Amino acid sequence: MRIDIDEPNAVEQFWEGMREVAAAATRHQDDDLYQAIVKIGRSALAQGVELVPSSGFFLQCPVCSARSGQRCINVPAHPLSEDALHPARVELAEKAISGEIPLPAPIR
Ligand SMILES: [Zn+2]
Repeated sequence: MRIDIDEPNAVEQFWEGMREVAAAATRHQDDDLYQAIVKIGRSALAQGVELVPSSGFFLQCPVCSARSGQRCINVPAHPLSEDALHPARVELAEKAISGEIPLPAPIR
């Protein structure tokens, strides 16, 4: 597959790939793999790759407990509307990936 870094969706695609690996790490209960993804994510940020809302897929949702790589589910008082993710999850991921808060345990 050819990757064009000037492609408008390149950033989305990067995070989508990361999300797929995060889902695999969850599926296999592989902490080391998950830590590697976080490392890649942080170095991508350091090189100027922007976070997109879907990077919230990295972490377990604090609202509905959807696991890493899974879409959020509707829970009472926290309807999802069009979004795949609860806003609190996106915010948590931004802080955790940027190192502002410690990384919550994603798998257990
Ligand atoms: Zn959620």
